[in-house]
Amino acid sequence: MRFSQLLIPTLKETPSEAEVISHQLLLRAGFIRKLSSGIYSYLPLGLAAIRKVEQIVRQEMVRAGAQELLLPMVQPGDLWQESGRWEKYGPELLRFTDRHGRESCLGPTHEEVITDLVRMNVHSYRDLPLNLFQIQTKFRDEIRPRFGLMRGREFIMKDGYSFDATEESADKTYMAMHQAYHRIFTRCGLAFRAVEADTGTIGGSFSHEFMVLADTGEDTIVICKNCEYAANMEKAGYREPAKPDTVPALKELTKVETPGKRKVEAVTEFLGISAKELIKTMIFMADEKPVAVLLRGDHEVQSVKLANALGVNDDNLRLADDKEVFDATGVPSGYLGPIGLKIPVLADLEITRMYNFAIGANEKNHHFTNANLGRDFEVKTITDLRMVTEEDNCPKCGGALSLTKGIEVGHIFKLGTSYSKALKATFLDNQGEERPFIMGCYGIGVSRTVAAAIEQNHDKDGIIFPLPITPFQVIILNLSPKDEEISAAASKLYDYLRSEGIEVLLDDRDERPGSKFKDADLIGIPYRVMVGKSFSNEGMLEIRTRADGKTTTLTLDETGPELVKIIKEALA
Ligand code: ATP
Ligand code: MG
Repeated sequence: MRFSQLLIPTLKETPSEAEVISHQLLLRAGFIRKLSSGIYSYLPLGLAAIRKVEQIVRQEMVRAGAQELLLPMVQPGDLWQESGRWEKYGPELLRFTDRHGRESCLGPTHEEVITDLVRMNVHSYRDLPLNLFQIQTKFRDEIRPRFGLMRGREFIMKDGYSFDATEESADKTYMAMHQAYHRIFTRCGLAFRAVEADTGTIGGSFSHEFMVLADTGEDTIVICKNCEYAANMEKAGYREPAKPDTVPALKELTKVETPGKRKVEAVTEFLGISAKELIKTMIFMADEKPVAVLLRGDHEVQSVKLANALGVNDDNLRLADDKEVFDATGVPSGYLGPIGLKIPVLADLEITRMYNFAIGANEKNHHFTNANLGRDFEVKTITDLRMVTEEDNCPKCGGALSLTKGIEVGHIFKLGTSYSKALKATFLDNQGEERPFIMGCYGIGVSRTVAAAIEQNHDKDGIIFPLPITPFQVIILNLSPKDEEISAAASKLYDYLRSEGIEVLLDDRDERPGSKFKDADLIGIPYRVMVGKSFSNEGMLEIRTRADGKTTTLTLDETGPELVKIIKEALA
């Protein structure tokens, strides 16, 4: 393609609305444009990168035995009523009514539709296993669409669904998808990790998220430095330290005045203790009812763990505000403690290892010191409710844990029979018995993967595309489009590379060399060839690698074959 004919509206300035790098660079490099909040047009370069990811996804899904189909985007409300998700899904599901008064929605995911399709058309164990996928635009009315393609309302997803007759076969399918995802993200040229993920209230099954590693990621993942253990924060556990041989002597519970000291830091400083010697009492609203949570002073609540312990949906759990705290306990926030508290109390496991600690006294301006669990108060539910930290050890091997940032690009889930039971999707097994399908679902954020690739691969000048997903593999800069000899050489190389199946962009614009260099760096094409003065003078061209800036100088006849060789080897 010729640059002069393509719509590549690059920008010199960083648009102020873009907070993260991928969003900034996708806008600046002319890959996307915003239509409205969370809704983007994919311009030719943006679409080309997306298509590359799609193609890799498609090939690997098919290799793993899945079949491609395309389901409708508009879905009838009835089906969602049947699965029970019409009530549960909340405002992310964009609902509307058609001219006949039928309730409908835009598909945020397709479990209902695919289960309906399969229950109507597949009836025997002989037709199983069945693994179906599509690549399609999804709509989720996200509460905070942001970061460009990272969290859109409209975005492109690959979603796949499997149907198996037995648990054993379903587990095999899950493993095959796990491997396919490994191949997909490896082939995309990305550094990633598969991490164990929470299965929420569906329960009993397993799930992994595929995380592209990037400092700017929204998710924190926990990785063992010693073994293969990796999990997201919601799921991550830790190895409990061995119980001490001797319990320290319990000191006398003492009420102390702590005027105006409400925050952990202020209280501990005032009392001259560390945050590890204090238990904080936090009030949450779960399904709009107050519950108290006890936690070591320096620890943080993990809301999904807490929601699971309470048996409520994560979306229906929030921190209480000051008024709610007072209404629930009669105590201003900052002075709360478990002794004499009248609302349900849950505690994090860590407190069972603490003695003679400080807590709020349930009285304004007062705390207790030397409190002890069992002697001064009891807690019914004591379980892991907190975020793992780097002070914790690996639950598998006891090794050191490290926390890093990641971007969720894929998610696989063994669903079991939750949807097939709800929608009465059954088949006859080899004994002639009717059974619900055992299902799995497998998502990849295709458009998010392009954004994640940029978060991971960029420098101050722009994008550094991994070769497998770049919109073009080579850019030829014709530095003097008015010079016939130079233009002829640039065209000759362009034609040669195209004839060899290389994806090449020829910058034939009547622009200054400086702005051509800038645009080439910004767009991030892996190999750049300059055709300019050194060609007129010495007959030489320069190949420059975007990633490391290395240059090679060759003759016109050598340049084409050299690029073909480099690219074919890199993609082999
Ligand atoms: P998140 O936790 O980021 O909101 P999710 O867990 O709700 O995502 P899934 O239902 O697992 O997402 O969807 C499958 C994949 O689709 C995700 O792994 C992610 O890559 C992608 N995805 C989800 N929501 C968005 C979005 N709003 N914009 C772009 N991609 C998305
Ligand atoms: Mg997910």
